[in-house]
Amino acid sequence: MSELFTEGTSIEDDKAPAGPIAERWDKRRFGGKLVNPANRRKMSVIVVGTGLAGGSAAATLGELGYHVKSFCYQDSPRRAHSIAAQGGINAAKNYRNDGDSIQRLFYDTVKGGDYRSRESNVYRLAQVSVEIIDQCVAQGVPFARDYGGLLDTRSFGGVQVSRTFYARGQTGQQLLLGAYQALERQVAAGTVEMFARHEMLELIMVDGVARGIIARDMVTGEIETHTADAVVLASGGYGNVFFLSTNAKGCNVTATWRAHRKGALFANPCYTQIHPTCIPQSGEHQSKLTLMSESLRNDGRVWVPVKKGDTRKPGDIPEDERDYYLERIYPSFGNLVPRDIASRAAKNVCDEGRGVGPGGLGVYLDFADAIARLGRDAVAAKYGNLFEMYERITGEDPFEVPMRIYPAVHYTMGGLWVDYDLQSTIPGLFVIGEANFSDHGANRLGASALMQGLADGYFVLPNTISDYLAKGPLPKIGDDHEAVVEARESVTDRIEKLLSIDGDRTPDSFHRELGAVMWEYCGMERTDAGLRKAIDRIRELRQEFWTRVKVPGENEELNQNLEKAGRIADFFELAELMCIDALHREESAGGHFRAESQTPDGEALRDDERFAYVAAWEYTGHAPVLHKENLEYEYVKMTQRSYK
Ligand SMILES: Cc1cc2nc3c(=O)[nH]c(=O)nc-3n(C[C@H](O)[C@H](O)[C@H](O)COP(=O)(O)OP(=O)(O)OC[C@H]3O[C@@H](n4cnc5c(N)ncnc54)[C@H](O)[C@@H]3O)c2cc1C
Repeated sequence: MSELFTEGTSIEDDKAPAGPIAERWDKRRFGGKLVNPANRRKMSVIVVGTGLAGGSAAATLGELGYHVKSFCYQDSPRRAHSIAAQGGINAAKNYRNDGDSIQRLFYDTVKGGDYRSRESNVYRLAQVSVEIIDQCVAQGVPFARDYGGLLDTRSFGGVQVSRTFYARGQTGQQLLLGAYQALERQVAAGTVEMFARHEMLELIMVDGVARGIIARDMVTGEIETHTADAVVLASGGYGNVFFLSTNAKGCNVTATWRAHRKGALFANPCYTQIHPTCIPQSGEHQSKLTLMSESLRNDGRVWVPVKKGDTRKPGDIPEDERDYYLERIYPSFGNLVPRDIASRAAKNVCDEGRGVGPGGLGVYLDFADAIARLGRDAVAAKYGNLFEMYERITGEDPFEVPMRIYPAVHYTMGGLWVDYDLQSTIPGLFVIGEANFSDHGANRLGASALMQGLADGYFVLPNTISDYLAKGPLPKIGDDHEAVVEARESVTDRIEKLLSIDGDRTPDSFHRELGAVMWEYCGMERTDAGLRKAIDRIRELRQEFWTRVKVPGENEELNQNLEKAGRIADFFELAELMCIDALHREESAGGHFRAESQTPDGEALRDDERFAYVAAWEYTGHAPVLHKENLEYEYVKMTQRSYK
């Protein structure tokens, strides 16, 4: 493997204070420097992204009095991908008196992440979770309530308490509207300047620190320079490297990849979440997959026929010829095992030839028992919009026949490496939300992404960034500064190159092929041989891309092919790093399943002796350099995960 990467010095997070874990966040806030309100007005912060992480951060920084420039590539900040989140948001409120606590949310998250996340960060996340709900209720987010008017909760995978707050199947949308209102209030107040339909294409670094971005106005093609005292990336995840995923089509890696190329380490890129409950792919030309929220596993029962190749209609298969395999294999957690476990179990039964629907790539998610027990109205009240969505896409009514579901790429736990302050290895560059690697280890628990995004944006970043900004304001940077000129040139050169190739293949055709390679070899199951094959194929395809891609049109117009081509070029580089990361991690952990490393009953087998570390990769332009951050567990004992 030595030809693929080299190993560098180890890395550590020196920002999390020592001492009792419950006191660390308080200690850090007290230890960090502050910026007084009058000085905040003299400082500016760029926030790339207006999803739950970026929207909440920009609003809060604006409220604090900083001058904020907020960017998104959609036509409105309100259309960030966070709007798609369905099921809910976790918080350790213990409203149900079912034994929940900050300690339990912390424990569940560390265990759920297969002991590959940092204890200090996860504990803080659990602490802050309770504040998020109060903040959002105060904003008027219409969380579901029970008959008595109290906030309702439901359960998500990997836990035995009910701590997920929700707004029907539209939790992300409602939370985003809350953040958006707060953001717009600051736009009106003049603290936040909004740049919609702007795509960050490069990071500006001056004297080793992040000082701004180069962005393209996606309507006119104008290349703009924006400078500030600090830059925050809240640009979301990179699941679309697989082409088919549950992410919005626009989600991409460009913002974080450009920063990576400028020196920010990229951590655990191979940790991808494959969600067990998505509508199966229906054809070759499909370009998007649809999630069916995990919340459905509260009441839906997952099963396949006992017999291989059973093509009878589900209603014709009697009870004793059905295998409720999750309930059978994992009696303690049943249908609510974590996502990585449920996805692998679905793959296993399909590989055995017991899958249902076209190609045998599906399992049933059946609501018949819930409808009989709770009544149709109660089921509709909880999941109505999800049932409607399913029916519109498949033409089948889940009240009458079980849903058919299959695993699909959904979330990326990897991202830019950040310390406890959420600062990357580039001073002045902070990374929040799905774009960083911070809290979920090798597998994220359901309803924890919204929690992390809002924790980062409303509560963590606004407190930690002041310690950095207290050094400022930094000297102003003119457009003629050599760092700006160089960054602009690299953007314009790349655009010109993409437009000039004038080949014979569409950007999408490359993306589709790259995605197929990634799904085959770096998807639900990975092997040494497969990953090596993938790396070779990705390199060939990338070369072909740079000689054969055709990008019609000009830069000086709305040009979606140009946008796509730039993003796909970055996906190629990321894909190779993901495969190298997956290849070097010769263990299974959470969503990273190496076929060579499994227990006798087929569960992921970690190798803590060799791999209890965060793999943080440095860009070199050729073989990347691996920096290891060792993970130590003082408060949770590392064990073989069991949900049986
Ligand atoms: C279908 C679906 C359902 C989900 N349901 C849940 C759920 O119920 N609970 C849960 O906890 N999680 C859920 N998740 C995960 C969760 O929605 C995401 O992880 C989370 O919303 C990401 O938020 P974010 O703010 O980090 O990024 P995003 O919401 O993806 O926002 C990214 C922002 O960055 C901007 N951006 C990106 N690149 C650039 C660039 N180069 N230049 C300018 N702007 C840029 C975009 O315009 C956008 O504004 C779900 C995910 C999916 C796909």
